[in-house]
Amino acid sequence: MTTSALPLGQVTLVGAGPGDPELLTLKAVKAIAAASVILVDDLVGDGVLAHADPAARIVYVGKRGGCKSTPQATIEQLMLDAAHAGENVVRLKGGDPFIFGRGGEEVESLRRAGIEPVVVNGVTAGLAALTSLGAPLTHRDRAQGVVFVTGHPQKNGQGLNWTRLGESARDLRLTLVIYMGISSAERIQSGLLAALPADTPVAVIERASLPTQRQCTTTLGDLLGCLRHEGLGSPAIMVVGDVVLGVRAALRAPCPAEVAG
Ligand code: SAH
Repeated sequence: MTTSALPLGQVTLVGAGPGDPELLTLKAVKAIAAASVILVDDLVGDGVLAHADPAARIVYVGKRGGCKSTPQATIEQLMLDAAHAGENVVRLKGGDPFIFGRGGEEVESLRRAGIEPVVVNGVTAGLAALTSLGAPLTHRDRAQGVVFVTGHPQKNGQGLNWTRLGESARDLRLTLVIYMGISSAERIQSGLLAALPADTPVAVIERASLPTQRQCTTTLGDLLGCLRHEGLGSPAIMVVGDVVLGVRAALRAPCPAEVAG
């Protein structure tokens, strides 16, 4: 490629937050507005792109669990090519770029090519989800820490040891915030139930912060029934722990599935 004459463009990994454009940081808005090329994940809300320059080239590279998506290597190559062409590149990622967004891999790939990207934090979905129900993730009387964890099995097909995680949550009084957990809900539930009581409070929040948000508060024992009954699906966050007792009273009503048994 004959790119040596052009100065390298800037690359910025920008956290778009959980969906509500008002949760964007000022830095994110500035970076989006200044970009000439924006590579966008599919969990990025449309309102966020309203800040883009109308002349900017928007490239959708979204990926969704189980669906065909742009391969990671292609996304990384697109960023490099645009930077070598002197473009001001924004890689717009849902939530925070450094929480389960493969932001770490993208930064490493850029560095290998001699580009040091700027990273702009976003509000991660796991934080926005329970806040949207009016409850905190930590509380002096209910949880002294938080674990952000993925429900998605690793490359080798091995998942987390949910029972060990449940034991830690129980012994250390930690809130569990589970990303990408819906399709593994059964495995997560049975693993956690070996360590935590069936009446441990759980909240599931789908599309947190968006107008289409839906949620369910339930217990660990009734989690699957609740998911089925409410038809909740991805993208969703599951929160496990006593902090869920702090959700707004109107949302705390048990799922009809629980009532029906
Ligand atoms: N970097 C992102 C997470 C990417 S992993 C962040 O910081 O939020 C994708 C997972 O994030 C989804 O499967 C889901 O578990 C969660 N997620 C992303 N946006 C969400 C939203 N608006 N509501 C609920 N969960 C969301």
